[in-house]
Amino acid sequence: MPGITFEGRTYPREQSESVLDALLRNGVQAPHSCKAGSCGSCLMRAEQGVVPARAQAGLKDSWRSQGYFLACVCHPDGDLAISKVGSDAELGATLADLRLIGAGVMRVRLHCDAALSFRPGQYVTLVREGGLARSYSIASLPEESAIELHVRRVEGGQMSTWLHETASVGDRVSVIGPSGECFYVPGKEDQPLLLVGTGTGLAPLYGILRDALRHGHRGPIHLFHGALHRGGLYLTEELRRIADRYSHVEYTPAVLNGTAEDDLAVGAIDDVVLRRFPKLAGWRGYVCGDPALVKLLRKKLFLSGMGSREIYADAFVPAAQTS
Ligand SMILES: Cc1cc2nc3c(=O)[nH]c(=O)nc-3n(C[C@H](O)[C@H](O)[C@H](O)COP(=O)(O)OP(=O)(O)OC[C@H]3O[C@@H](n4cnc5c(N)ncnc54)[C@H](O)[C@@H]3O)c2cc1C
Repeated sequence: MPGITFEGRTYPREQSESVLDALLRNGVQAPHSCKAGSCGSCLMRAEQGVVPARAQAGLKDSWRSQGYFLACVCHPDGDLAISKVGSDAELGATLADLRLIGAGVMRVRLHCDAALSFRPGQYVTLVREGGLARSYSIASLPEESAIELHVRRVEGGQMSTWLHETASVGDRVSVIGPSGECFYVPGKEDQPLLLVGTGTGLAPLYGILRDALRHGHRGPIHLFHGALHRGGLYLTEELRRIADRYSHVEYTPAVLNGTAEDDLAVGAIDDVVLRRFPKLAGWRGYVCGDPALVKLLRKKLFLSGMGSREIYADAFVPAAQTS
C-alpha cells in the first residue's frame, strides 16, 4: 500500500483514495472544501515523489514547478512526501469592511498583508482560524485598495454564517490563490460579451465588466443578473449607472417570480438571455454561480453558436459534506 509522509509521520493510502481522503481517514486535519479540484483549499506541496499531472491542472506554472498540487484529486502511483503550503501560497489578510449590499449578501473587503496579483473574476480561497476554507470570487479591480468579495448567507453555512453574523472588522483570515480562468482577456476589444449569473454569481461578473471597460473594450457588453424575486437582486443602482455612462453596456436584471416591468425581465435566466440573443456566434460568454445553471447555460450558449473556447465559467460548487 503506498504511503504519504506528512509532518514526520507516514500514513497508508488505499489505491482508490486521493491524498486528501487518506489524510482525513487517518485523522489529519487537512484544509479542504469542494473535493472536486476546483476550489484550491487543499493545496499542498510535494517534497518527494511524483505528482500526477491532473493534480496540478490549472495551477500557476510557478506553483507547478515548486511541487504544489491539489490533494483532493491527487492519486499518485507511489509514495509521496508532502508538506503544507508555504507562505508564498497563503497570504495573511484582515477583514477591512463587512456590509450588507443586498438581501443576504455581504460585501466583504479584505486588506492583504502583501500585494495579491489577480484578475477580476478569479477567485480566492478564504481560510478562517481553525482551517475552514471556502472559495469566493473577486469583484474588485487590482488598483482598488481592498479585495472585494460578495458572500451569500447560506442557511447553516459555516463560513457564510460566520461572515454574516460573527466576524468583525479587524479579524484575521488568510487567502489562497488566486485561481480560475474566468476573467477578461484583452485582445478582442470589438467582440460582443455576454455576462450571465444569478445571486452572488454577480461578483465575478461585476469585476469582469469593470475590467473590460478599464481595458477599453468597445464591443457590446450585456450583463444579465437573475434572482428569484426583486429583493434578491443587488448593486442594481450601481449597474444602471454604469450602463447609463457607457452606451455599449446593457444591464438586464431578471427575476424568476414577478410581473414584467420596464426595468425587469421575468423568467428563467437562460430563457431571458436566449430570447434576447438566440444567435451567439462570435460572442464571448462568462457564466457564474449555481453549478446546475452554469452547466445548463454552457450547453445552451454553445448550441446557440458560441464557441466552446469562448465560454468562461465558474460554478460555485458547495463544499463537500465532510468538511
Ligand atoms: C470557484 C468558486 C467560487 C465561489 N464564489 C462564491 C462567491 O463569490 N460568493 C458566494 O456567496 N459563494 C461562492 N462560492 C461558494 C462558497 O465557496 C461556499 O460554498 C458558500 O459560501 C457556502 O459555504 P458555507 O461554509 O457557508 O456553507 P457550508 O457549511 O459549506 O454548507 C452548509 C450546508 O449548505 C449547503 N450549501 C452550501 N452552499 C450552498 C448553496 N450555494 N446553495 C444551497 N445549499 C448550499 C451545503 O451542502 C451544506 O449542506 C464559490 C464556490 C466556488 C467553488
